[in-house]
Amino acid sequence: MRAGPSQEDIRRHNLGALLRHVHLGGPISRAELTSKMGLNRSTIMALTSDLTAAGLVREELPRETGRAGRPSLVVRPESARVYVFAFDVGPDRLAVARVGLGGVILDRRESVRDRGAFELDELAGLLAGFARQMRRKTRADTVCVGAAAAVSGGVRKGDGVVVFGPNLKADEVPFGEELGRRLGLGLPVSVGNDANLAALAEHSRGVGAAVRDLIYLHGDVGIGGGIIAGGHLLGGHDGYGGEVGHMVVNPGGRACGCGSHGCLEAEVGERALLESAGRVSSGQGRDAVRAVVEAADRGDIVAQEALSRVGDWLGLGVANLVNIFNPEMVIFGGMLREIYLGSAAQVRSQLTLHAMAPQRERLRLRTSALGDAATLVGAAELAFAHVLADPLEVLARANA
Ligand SMILES: [Zn+2]
Repeated sequence: MRAGPSQEDIRRHNLGALLRHVHLGGPISRAELTSKMGLNRSTIMALTSDLTAAGLVREELPRETGRAGRPSLVVRPESARVYVFAFDVGPDRLAVARVGLGGVILDRRESVRDRGAFELDELAGLLAGFARQMRRKTRADTVCVGAAAAVSGGVRKGDGVVVFGPNLKADEVPFGEELGRRLGLGLPVSVGNDANLAALAEHSRGVGAAVRDLIYLHGDVGIGGGIIAGGHLLGGHDGYGGEVGHMVVNPGGRACGCGSHGCLEAEVGERALLESAGRVSSGQGRDAVRAVVEAADRGDIVAQEALSRVGDWLGLGVANLVNIFNPEMVIFGGMLREIYLGSAAQVRSQLTLHAMAPQRERLRLRTSALGDAATLVGAAELAFAHVLADPLEVLARANA
């Protein structure tokens, strides 16, 4: 017979659950925690004192209660003291942030870069250098409890090796391990796919907070995605799931970087839009995409036709996803935000044509709330995940 959870297991679980409330929801009174967690007052008091003693939260009198009687203490995250490093390796920029418990960006470095792939050494060196600069400015009582990075491409489940991706020069790159070594904090660096992490960010802190079934579509040079089903990110058997950019929407269509033809990414990506609009030579990146949308708004026929064509393929892709996953919300992020805003009519009409009515009726289409910070915020959430799983153990190790 299998033994049930021990008292210690239950306590650890409850500490994590309480810290999660404070981390994601912000300051909250003991009374609210009691009702949200379904635990009695003395248990909540014991849990908050453990977390306070560890320096993860602090308790304060509320500023104003407006009610008679003894006010319930408010539990706040120690955002300035407990932090993680979040890294984002994008196609056009590198970003590093120091993110405090509670999701507060305390400090941030960013550098614009030319497109192309890095050697592992060069990339890990640059990112670790940014982190060191920020660390030098921290107070002595601060503690780094984790680190995580967002990269494009496939990240193997389990060991965080980047198996394929446009931003690293080799395949099977032990990126997390090398970055961890360069940081020299004695902390492992978790690695996740950028669109998957952006999906997690919108699900925990963005427009999809409290939505249990959502699909996030992210566009930059390529198109990535993250599928949250029943509150969990779908990773697939090896961790490479959610590659919605390579869903075929137009067999025999434009060639895709993956070797196939007519993938969503090939028909909707930045290159497809700029080529259709006859603007390949006038720059690339978000500004170039925005320029097409603005030209269409001003009545430029070529730009309007390009957007409308791309919007049709986008809508067809979304219809397939909606039929399969029945999400409550589809979120457009990265440059897909601009493309969706410029072609919402096409997207909706493809949904009407191809998505089944029961799946379509209550579907909400939204744009990213976190914008370009989504991948960085998602990386921070990945870094905090093990703290929320076992707060006291992680903090003890970080302080040691
Ligand atoms: Zn493809």
